Amino acid sequence: MAEPKLPLHDGRPQPRPDWVPPGCAQDSGFATWVMQGVRPSGASVVTPPARKRAKLTTADYVRGVRACDTSVLGRAITLVESNAPAHRRQAQELLAELLPHTGRARRIGLTGIPGAGKSTFIEAFGLHLVNQGHRVAVLAIDPSSAVTGGSILGDKVRMERLSRDPRAFIRPSPSGGSLGGVTRKTREAILVCEAAGYDVVIVETVGVGQNEVAVRAMVDAFVVLMIAGAGDEMQGIKKGVIEMADLMVINKADGENLPRCQAALAEMRRVLHYLREATEGWKTTVQLASALKGDGVADVWTGLGEFFKTGAATGAITRRRREQAVAWMHALIEESLRTSFYGCEAVRVKRGAIEHAVADGVLAPLAGALALLEAQAG
Ligand code: GDP
Repeated sequence: MAEPKLPLHDGRPQPRPDWVPPGCAQDSGFATWVMQGVRPSGASVVTPPARKRAKLTTADYVRGVRACDTSVLGRAITLVESNAPAHRRQAQELLAELLPHTGRARRIGLTGIPGAGKSTFIEAFGLHLVNQGHRVAVLAIDPSSAVTGGSILGDKVRMERLSRDPRAFIRPSPSGGSLGGVTRKTREAILVCEAAGYDVVIVETVGVGQNEVAVRAMVDAFVVLMIAGAGDEMQGIKKGVIEMADLMVINKADGENLPRCQAALAEMRRVLHYLREATEGWKTTVQLASALKGDGVADVWTGLGEFFKTGAATGAITRRRREQAVAWMHALIEESLRTSFYGCEAVRVKRGAIEHAVADGVLAPLAGALALLEAQAG
């Protein structure tokens, strides 16, 4: 039988395939043609070897951070966030070198429930500040990383305009899976940003959990972004958070929502009357804003200016920072003790059985605790 001459894409003849569908005309071919493979030529198809980044010495880090080289700054923050023992040592060296250059920024915490408009607000606020000659660092604590290992903040482009501005630096900060993690990593990241010359550092948290308490303990001023009528289920969270606020901002005060925000403003002023001040000598303020339109954003900066002026006059900010530094030291001691206790081999061996005995009620919790502590000591 003569070989059917089936044209290929380049017109060259092709031998008949081994199999054709029943009833297929001898030389009608298939609906699709298998293209001939192409042997790659040239360097473009060769996968380049992954470029390993050169290891930086502590002096390189110090130089890069002080020069505000944002790529070194990012790596320095990664270093201080690392839990690896070898990194911890270098991170401590770096922080010791940077310490004399820290402390000059205004440290501002900002929280609000998801959807309150935090990223919209920080973008407008940050741009307002950089246009006034400030340099702004934003550390956004990502609560999802503790639960899912992923990052909700990374899923969307947040603060796009601000992140493109060379006078601003935005960095998502993993929560590290524990409250201690938030405290240590974010605190140290604040110091690195200050040493790089940012004079306003904003720490953003999502107001749904305990992170606010940790953030309150590392900033000078705490701003709570609220929205009118967020529903009763949010009130519990709000109450605890409101008690920590120096400034409250009711956001989305625009369009049809404005009257509702004005009512919420009046209500909040009444509530604040009964609350203890979060910072001694400063009466918590509440105001309206529309982050989307930019209304009230400059007023928040003015309000913060008043707060810092009052805090400097009364000494409240200096006192707060001194207390925070000592509390931080104790937190680090506790973290270190906990790590060495649970990492101890003798404790690890006995822990399961003792936990069972305590859970079953055959061993008192105090006796269980003593047994484990003795195991570590012995
Ligand atoms: P986040 O989850 O707190 O960071 O909130 P986003 O900044 O992502 O804002 C959530 C939604 O609210 C977005 O669709 C924003 O456009 C919108 N939004 C933020 N601020 C305002 C505002 O001042 N007015 C109005 N009408 N919408 C706003």
